[in-house]
Amino acid sequence: MTATRIAFALAAMGLGQASDAAPDLVRLANPLQGTDSTGGFSHGNTFPAIALPFPMNAWAPYTQPAKDSFFYQYRQNRIRGIRQTHQPSPWIADYANFSLMPVSGKLVVNEEDRASVFRHEEETAHPGYYRVLLDTWQATAEVAPTERGAGFRFTFEKPGDSYVVLDAFHNNPEIEIHPDERTIIGICRNNSGGVPANFANHFVIVFDQPFAAYGTWTPDAVNEGKTAIKAPKAGAYLKFDTSKGKVVTCKVASSYLGAEQAKRNLDREIGDADFDTIRQRAEAKWNETFGRIKVEGGSDEQRRTFYSAFYRSVIFPHRFFEYDAQNKPVYFSPFDGKVHQGYLYTDTGLWDTFRASHPLYNLLFPEISAQIMQGMIAAYDQSGWLPAWSSPGHRGCMIGNHAFSLFADAWVKGVRDFDAKKAVAAMVHDANTQSPGFCGAIGRDGAAFYQRLGYAPYPEIREATAKTLEYAYDDFCAAVLAKGTGHAADAAEFAKDAMNYRKVFDEKTGFVRGRKANGDWCENFDPTEWGGPFTEGCSWHWTWSVFHDVPGLIKLFGSDDAFCRKLDAVFYTPPDVKTGTYGQMIHEMTEMVASNMGQYAHGNQPIQHMIYLYNYAGQPWKTQARAREVMARLYQPTPDGFCGDEDTGQMSSWYVFSALGFYPVCPGTTGYPIGSPIFDRATITLPNGKEFVIHAKTNGPQRPYILRASLNGGEFNRTWLEHADISNGGTLELEMTSAPDTKWGVQPSSRPGSAIDALNKQP
Ligand code: CA
Repeated sequence: MTATRIAFALAAMGLGQASDAAPDLVRLANPLQGTDSTGGFSHGNTFPAIALPFPMNAWAPYTQPAKDSFFYQYRQNRIRGIRQTHQPSPWIADYANFSLMPVSGKLVVNEEDRASVFRHEEETAHPGYYRVLLDTWQATAEVAPTERGAGFRFTFEKPGDSYVVLDAFHNNPEIEIHPDERTIIGICRNNSGGVPANFANHFVIVFDQPFAAYGTWTPDAVNEGKTAIKAPKAGAYLKFDTSKGKVVTCKVASSYLGAEQAKRNLDREIGDADFDTIRQRAEAKWNETFGRIKVEGGSDEQRRTFYSAFYRSVIFPHRFFEYDAQNKPVYFSPFDGKVHQGYLYTDTGLWDTFRASHPLYNLLFPEISAQIMQGMIAAYDQSGWLPAWSSPGHRGCMIGNHAFSLFADAWVKGVRDFDAKKAVAAMVHDANTQSPGFCGAIGRDGAAFYQRLGYAPYPEIREATAKTLEYAYDDFCAAVLAKGTGHAADAAEFAKDAMNYRKVFDEKTGFVRGRKANGDWCENFDPTEWGGPFTEGCSWHWTWSVFHDVPGLIKLFGSDDAFCRKLDAVFYTPPDVKTGTYGQMIHEMTEMVASNMGQYAHGNQPIQHMIYLYNYAGQPWKTQARAREVMARLYQPTPDGFCGDEDTGQMSSWYVFSALGFYPVCPGTTGYPIGSPIFDRATITLPNGKEFVIHAKTNGPQRPYILRASLNGGEFNRTWLEHADISNGGTLELEMTSAPDTKWGVQPSSRPGSAIDALNKQP
């Protein structure tokens, strides 16, 4: 090959287009990470979301039948189409989706018939671009995303008839074909709940080629020449003359407001841009986003894992708003079915994402965080409840009132462009109101018991002890915002309830336990027994869910040593599982056993902050070693690269923080306990333009321990960073070593303190 040809070939493969301005970080992120999963065993339960950061839509190939929400499975070898998707998690499932698929030689429309064999060698995926060769049809499909749309390019290698098949799936879609305008307009209504009756996703698809033929289809019939259809399941097809040029492109956008708005979205985001331009813009957007954290050193695999995790951290929540003719944000509310001005984000489970994802947004994307807060208050106005798990409206999943955590974390980190007084009123309401019949995840299940007893009793309340622990933490968060906004009485009440975690801690066994309404402990306690008073875990996992008063928890154990011994025991206790009320091994149990770290279950959320608790008890070197161990063993940039459900960014945000060397143990406070950074140098460019550098000298895979530290040149012995340390810019310099250093950061003044004590001391 000549140099020119090589350059051309590289460009065609998508390898040679790094701009001078920004490093080509987008190619380090692998959307296929975590896709080697099934319902029975999760290596992430992800799908390759080809999307911009915080998009309204993602685009993804799918290998499984439409009814299967584990829709892209890495080990399968047939693709049925590339769909617009909004799915946050396979357990919640997709909605408002439709797909495009090239077919050649003969017209086939049903997903089984049109599915094509493919090989991963002929599949390219990064967040801003996806390409696959569909062997059955000898056609290539490519997609590049915008926030509310995408460009597609189909290349038909086989002479003869070439088709693009649209599938609008089930639940009475409507499709109109406008041959003169080379356009399809459609409405899809498929959903998995959480939508009002008038919910619809309007889409418009504009092709660059005239249609040689066209028609609609249902599973039973192809209607040649028909230009409109509405049916329980329906699609359309377009035939193209590819005898002179084998490429067909189209641009797509959608809207929850209507066809006119879908066209507006298409014009705003794509306009006259061709496919390569759409792709370059998507890559530039990702490079700009990833460029906010630049890492040096570490291995190629660590860098790939880092940017893959960064990507997963920011593809949820989804924007649900669009820009109207006056360029104002406007959205269709899934809560009341009406159109409102303002911002709304959705498709996220706060039980997962309050922990590290939202703290990451407050650090890097405060303007988006403010919009998320505004949207949560709007959801409260429209539905009477703050969101807990929304997709797009309220969904019955998981526990806690973690909107409180989002508000408090935003507030303490200076994100204040939201109605904080109304947020306090909403928190007072939700904390004191039993969950409504239509959704047990919002409000507070067992509110009356919790008020009367200071805990939710078992068995009257499902998962009562897990709920008590999270209510107590959320009450701390509510106290933070109430105090910050001058609601002293509410703050005092919430601060008192924040201590309720003590009501479910049994000092005799050193574990949190189920407690009856009469005050007795539930009998036959076994800390390896899952379910019952716990959620997706056992007492080994839930005993640590006291984010806001770790020193208080340590006191319940009696001493720092006793506390650390118990933390150690998490890793040294065999991964035995009693299935308890689950009655069978659920995937989180299997994944804990497979992780082979004792009772440490990083594959699920309750224990994910636990490693950082050693800092509070004067043994930070154990935090450093364990954080490194989890990063090395349980994260890879590969299809089997997660140790459990990724969960709309939380599993990934844990890695982003941990790789930088600190973690937000208690969202709603400004402290970030320090772990062990994996890179020699990481530079965070903050929204205010300042840079914070973590420089880990003499670092390496076998050198996880901190020997010495300095902040901006001054001696630094704290085992936590303050938000201001980071946001003011500066350099944290660490000297890393291979043997545990038992002197750095162990003094009482070096340890992170009790957040609730600090709050109570505030005037
Ligand atoms: Ca989970």
